[in-house]
Amino acid sequence: MDLLEYQGKEFFAAHDIAVPPGGFAKSVEEAVGVAEAMELPVVVKAQVHTGGRGKAGGVKLVRTMEEVRQHAQNILGLDIKGHIVECLLVEAASDIAEEYYTSFTLDRSERKHLGMLSAQGGVEIEEVAERDPEAIAKIWVDPLEGLTEPQCRDWVAAAKLNPAATEGAVSILLKLYEAYVAGDADLVEINPLILTGNGEVIALDAKVTLDGNAVFRHKNYAAYDASQPRDEREQAANSKGLQYVGLSGNVGVIANGAGLAMSTVDVVNQVGGAAANFLDIGGGANADVMASALDVINNDPAVSAIFINIFGGITRGEEIAKGVIEAMDRVDIASPIVIRLDGTNAQQGRDMLQPYLSDKLMLSPNMLDAAHRATALAGQAA
Ligand code: GDP
Ligand code: MN
Repeated sequence: MDLLEYQGKEFFAAHDIAVPPGGFAKSVEEAVGVAEAMELPVVVKAQVHTGGRGKAGGVKLVRTMEEVRQHAQNILGLDIKGHIVECLLVEAASDIAEEYYTSFTLDRSERKHLGMLSAQGGVEIEEVAERDPEAIAKIWVDPLEGLTEPQCRDWVAAAKLNPAATEGAVSILLKLYEAYVAGDADLVEINPLILTGNGEVIALDAKVTLDGNAVFRHKNYAAYDASQPRDEREQAANSKGLQYVGLSGNVGVIANGAGLAMSTVDVVNQVGGAAANFLDIGGGANADVMASALDVINNDPAVSAIFINIFGGITRGEEIAKGVIEAMDRVDIASPIVIRLDGTNAQQGRDMLQPYLSDKLMLSPNMLDAAHRATALAGQAA
């Protein structure tokens, strides 16, 4: 789970990593309140789950209370790469002498933690990696040995930071590694890590991804978990126990088994369509599960045609047919449905569906034919 900057800084502060003092605000009035309790100038920062806020006008240095009000007003509601700003961080402005970059993440192929440090911070690290890969000093840390101070010193030396930053950098990087491990993080990134005019090294930004599977080990992570942005469709599906992932196309997909569901998404793509979702109803799904799945797909306004792809093993054809009939009975299905039904009791299922067949409900002899039909129908509707 990805933390917003202010949550990331809370996480850092809990691990004794220096961050500027500041406060969280959900409205212009709250932003003004936070600023009034501090000394000006302050920085007003958009809190969204994406980077590049500075360039998008989401980070403003302000010198008067009037400017706080004005910029808070402008930034709230701003669309940054599709993320609407709903809250702000107002923090003390820092006197930046230099901007660096640092991060820790897991390098699976090396089976080690990878630390990266660069004297060229404040810009996107991908740019630095492309333009000047030598400017990123890397360190691979054996998780069983941890990061020792001498190793950390060598790493800082390799990154050629300003010598004035050496002690501060070594200290903050050791704490950052500790926070990353003890906090069960998948990623910690500080960009920029700054050297201030009076020689301190502090975290000016925070990008933290915590391991969602570790929530139970940290009492305070429940709040982070609750504040994750969620796809409404995914929430509805998950509450019904369905394995659902929202995608951006217009062919709704229902299949039994994750492998078949993935193949179904692929084959829709192969014939020139695009799936609106991945939905696995699992093995041995009964009529009720099938009906719930159709309900979820039917509620997605992006869906123009529905492709039900079932190869029954434990799942039985007549249960699938019963579920489809029940769903049509219960709700008004907006899009035409194309069904491929094979495997256990498939014939029985097809026989049950026979009386209901129309231009809104079709049976296809095989998966490829069904993909073609569903894609064509979705294209006509679009
Ligand atoms: P990002 O664009 O989403 O990565 O947001 P950052 O928090 O990294 O801020 C972007 C840039 O704004 C930084 O690289 C700094 O150059 C600038 N900035 C942020 N906070 C301050 C501050 O307190 N003082 C000054 N002078 N500049 C700041
Ligand atoms: Mn940044």
